[in-house]
Amino acid sequence: MAALVGFHLAGAVVMMVESLGAGVGRDRATKGIPDEGGREQHMLELTELYNRVKAAGRLSVDFARYGRPGVMPPRPGDGAVVLDRVRGALLGGAVGDALGRTLEFAGYPHPRWVEHYQPGEDPDDPGFCRPPGAITDDTQLTMWLAESLLERGGLDPEDVVRRFTTSTIRGIGIATSQFVANCRQGLPWDRCGVRSAGNGVAMRSAPVGLFYGRDFGSLKLAAGLQALITHNDPMAIASGIMVAYAVARLVAEPRSALDPLEARITFCRDLAGIIEGMETGEAEMGSGRAGSRRTGSEQAGGREAASSYRNRQGMPDSLCRRVGTRIPELLAAGATAGEVQEEFGSSAYVLESLPFAIFCFLQSPHDFRRTLLHAVNLGEDSDTTGAMACTLSGAYNGANAIPAEYLEGLEYRFWLEGLAAGLAERWQHSDA
Ligand SMILES: [Mg+2]
Repeated sequence: MAALVGFHLAGAVVMMVESLGAGVGRDRATKGIPDEGGREQHMLELTELYNRVKAAGRLSVDFARYGRPGVMPPRPGDGAVVLDRVRGALLGGAVGDALGRTLEFAGYPHPRWVEHYQPGEDPDDPGFCRPPGAITDDTQLTMWLAESLLERGGLDPEDVVRRFTTSTIRGIGIATSQFVANCRQGLPWDRCGVRSAGNGVAMRSAPVGLFYGRDFGSLKLAAGLQALITHNDPMAIASGIMVAYAVARLVAEPRSALDPLEARITFCRDLAGIIEGMETGEAEMGSGRAGSRRTGSEQAGGREAASSYRNRQGMPDSLCRRVGTRIPELLAAGATAGEVQEEFGSSAYVLESLPFAIFCFLQSPHDFRRTLLHAVNLGEDSDTTGAMACTLSGAYNGANAIPAEYLEGLEYRFWLEGLAAGLAERWQHSDA
């Protein structure tokens, strides 16, 4: 399939690195930034791609049918704010990944509390010790997805597959490993994804939100389609859409926006709203009710009963319920991160680790370091819980709020800075 979607942007990475220092004076056309007509054309191309995948029977859930539109705050007046926030999302995620890396295979409860980067043996290459600040697959896949979006000017699944399968993935998860094997057998991109609700999608989806920004329709389609490249599973697809939207929105939130408890609760409900019904859509399709015209509230009402996902207590559960209902209850009750970890778990199952990471952020929305230390030290899948929580905290607080000790020695720091410059340009021009 000729799967390129969007605006071709030759040499975009070079341009975005250049734009770190000189971007302000360029005009829109020379940056490859689309105008309104271009964005509409892109949405049509994404829709066409979605319909092709759907017609081929490759969707585990008809995800475009579900969920409410995402609300977005007004655009910040100062472009420097957007750049700082986008840098914060990418660098923050890498910081959480790098600090969590040394605990990833240490067993749980972890044998020690870590606050500083440490060297550690590479699990893929016993005997080889990676230096402090080294990152893992969470940051690798995030960077490769960001590079693809910027270079191809939009989602190009085949280009994403090529990047995901060209280099060694550090600490690769089971599902992503199976995806690589499927690709190497020559399967088309939309048949390589594994039926897994692992967190391998949620940990890498921030660039989709940063690229599409305020264009929620394109964001949702692109986030879901890039998810199924590796994880063709309704909950994994929902997790990618949730993270992309959360990051896109946090870039625009004023710094005081999440101070009131009520605002944090509203944020949770909005995150849940955009995926409402998505995790159980598969059950509806499987029972022959895919074409039924149930309203959003009817879908929500049947959600828990139809869910095929179970929490570690053995009960039907969903991201939608945990994020939209349970996290608000826990925030209102003043629960600690440890208590939430005991209830949710924080393993590689995205039903556990994504809600846990969101709680770690919302419990201390202004305190990057506190979010980082809780997410890493209480996270069973510590590098990924750290990456997800700190992507959110970085998007809200900006790179300037990340303590300098975590930026010094961070692997790929300057490459991430270059990607952030390119993504910030796209976020800025994602509507208007
Ligand atoms: Mg990792």
